[in-house]
Formats: sequence, C-alpha cells, structure tokens
Amino acid sequence: MSTTRDVAAHLRYMKEMGVPGVSSDPAWRVRAPEPGTPAAGEAPNAPDAPEEPREPEAPAPTMRLTEIRADLGDCRRCKLHAGRTNIVFGVGSPGARLMFVGEGPGADEDEQGEPFVGRAGQLLTQIIKAMGMSREDVYIANVVKCRPPGNRNPEPDEIEACSPFLQAQIAAIGPTVIVALGKFAAQTLLQTETPISRLRGQFHSLGGVAVMPTFHPSYLLRNPAAKREVWEDMKLVMKKLTTAD
Ligand code: URA
Repeated sequence: MSTTRDVAAHLRYMKEMGVPGVSSDPAWRVRAPEPGTPAAGEAPNAPDAPEEPREPEAPAPTMRLTEIRADLGDCRRCKLHAGRTNIVFGVGSPGARLMFVGEGPGADEDEQGEPFVGRAGQLLTQIIKAMGMSREDVYIANVVKCRPPGNRNPEPDEIEACSPFLQAQIAAIGPTVIVALGKFAAQTLLQTETPISRLRGQFHSLGGVAVMPTFHPSYLLRNPAAKREVWEDMKLVMKKLTTAD
C-alpha cells in the first residue's frame, strides 16, 4: 500500500475511533479495491481469450449460503436453542474477500437476528469503515449462532454442534482473509490454546485461508488503548487484500 493510502487509512481509523480534530471530509473515503481490480502498477486484464469448454460450475456462494441456512433450519442441535430468540446466521456479501468471525450473539444480536449490531458491533462497523469498506462488502459471522445465556462463553459441545456451519460458510464464501475477533474465535478457528495477545499481529493459515486474529471489539470498549494494535492488524489485512490474488 502506498504511503498516501496508509496516511488516508490511518486518518480514517482515527476519525472512526473518535479521535478529535480528524477531518470528516468525504474525500478521505477511499474504497477498497473491487475483486479483480488491477493493483497499482499491474496491467489491466488482457483481452478475453477464446472460450474453452468449461467444467460444470460449482454452485454460486449465495446459493450455497442459502442451502447452508436451510440445512441449519430451526436448529436444536445443542442446548443454546432453548434460550434464543433468533438464530444469528451471518450477514454481508456472499462473495466477500474479507470475513469477520466473532464469538456468539449477544442480547442485541439475538433480538435482531444479525451479528454485531450492539455496542461492540458499532465499533466493528467503524473499524470496517476505517478500512475503506462497508458491512455490505464483507461477511460477518460467529462461532456459535445462538446467544449463550448471560453472554457466557460457548461450551465445547455447543461449538462442536455449530462448527460445521461456520466451516461451510467459510467454504462457500472463500474469503482471502478471515479476521478472528477475540480469543474465542481465534482459538476455535486455529485449534489452539495460545493466548490472543500472542496470536495477533501475524497471519495464520486455515486450510490456505489467511487468518488474522485480533482483539474483540468488546475488549476495545473496555481497553481503548488496544485500538492501536487492532489498527496494526487491520493494516496487515488491507495489505494482504491488495496484494493477494
Ligand atoms: N460479540 C460477538 O462475538 N458476536 C456478536 O455478534 C456480537 C457480539
């Protein structure tokens, strides 16, 4: 990423994080490149080659997500179903190159059936905006799709019951990068007990998909100083999205 874009993104992040004195000029809004957009200095796509006979195509991500949701149905595979108002499946672009995975729905998410819509969600939305994207450009899901009572951590049997659906969502979307929000998502996705403070700051691989663990937005609400580290992680994510194919 160029220095100018670094500075623009940094200022956007500071503004989204509420740092006073940062410009709100809409000219700062730099959108992330669309998938397939040539990077700076890269030649545009060559003219179309003559059509070759094609293999039958895999179902499009939207279709596959619809099927996964249908498969989940009125899920009663674990005890969390008893206390939920809504299943919180996931939201965003089925073709997203960037996916965020949180822990599990809280009260607001349970109520609305959408992930990350409460206070922590608003902070996540600001982080996504600071990265030059919107919630519609990315995909957001959780490790478990029903609210654990009193916002307790999901238990191993609940994660085991729900994991195939998250794995299927990841396979359907095929993101370039997954941001694992907080210890729970990171440790579950990467099958490790390493603390989040040691996992963050570098990419890990999940079946070839780059995973960036970072602090959970709820943690940032309690520890605003950690926003700096999250921004360092998001800069690495933005760079990966511009350089990866
Ligand atoms: N925290 C999460 O981990 N997920 C949500 O959807 C909301 C809050």
